[in-house]
Amino acid sequence: MSDSTWISIDFDDLRHLPKHSGHPTRSKKPHKTSVEKELSGDFQRGMVALERWLNSNDYPVTFFIIADLFENSTFTTWLQAIISQFSQRITIGNHGLSHRSWSAWPEDIAGFEQALIESNRILQQYCGPNLRPWFRAPAGYIAPWMVPILAKNGFEVDSSVNPSWLLKRKTGKDKSWSKVIDCMKQNGIREIAWKTKWSLPINGPALHIPILKTIAKREWKNSPVVDCLDDCLKSNKQITALYWHLLDHSRNEATWSPPLQ
Ligand SMILES: [Zn+2]
Repeated sequence: MSDSTWISIDFDDLRHLPKHSGHPTRSKKPHKTSVEKELSGDFQRGMVALERWLNSNDYPVTFFIIADLFENSTFTTWLQAIISQFSQRITIGNHGLSHRSWSAWPEDIAGFEQALIESNRILQQYCGPNLRPWFRAPAGYIAPWMVPILAKNGFEVDSSVNPSWLLKRKTGKDKSWSKVIDCMKQNGIREIAWKTKWSLPINGPALHIPILKTIAKREWKNSPVVDCLDDCLKSNKQITALYWHLLDHSRNEATWSPPLQ
């Protein structure tokens, strides 16, 4: 039997992507429209298309939001309207203060904790009761040293693990997903790993990479979406995560939608 599937959307703008910021070697230069508070055209088109998608179905969905987006008042106003319109089915998780790829840098406990506290404060301020103590590491860069800090700051769910051998370097020096998962367990955090197929990624960017996208589409179509993660967490049901990006909604002249059932 297949696992239950929890769906979520990562709110990264172009300036947040590792090729533009937050990574010691992958970040070449800042995105050219990257005035800190500005939203890119793609992101704004994605907002409109996401709203249309929300109106077309009843899926419960979690938004993983990067706290620095709230520096933009257009975004803040839009998000708050969306939350109030779809209040029963939208939950909010923490996707960092900026989009720093923490485990690609040397261990920095103080810096990570400071960013976590600040992002929690901002998300609490703008998302109120829809916010949950759920974390997704920016760009999926999670290492064991980050886990006790998540626990100390009240996080109950983590969804950063993409248990594909292709990506184990993202876990820092140990290069081991199972080490991260063990660490979550020891610290009382429920890990909801990203769904894979044959140990290949089928989430996020994989939705647009040749071959992987064919595998992903078939798997997504066969994944029953859970009614409510809050309820699911109370049971011991096996859950895996499927996610895409808000920016995806701007693809194909803003006609793209996730390949769900
Ligand atoms: Zn991200």
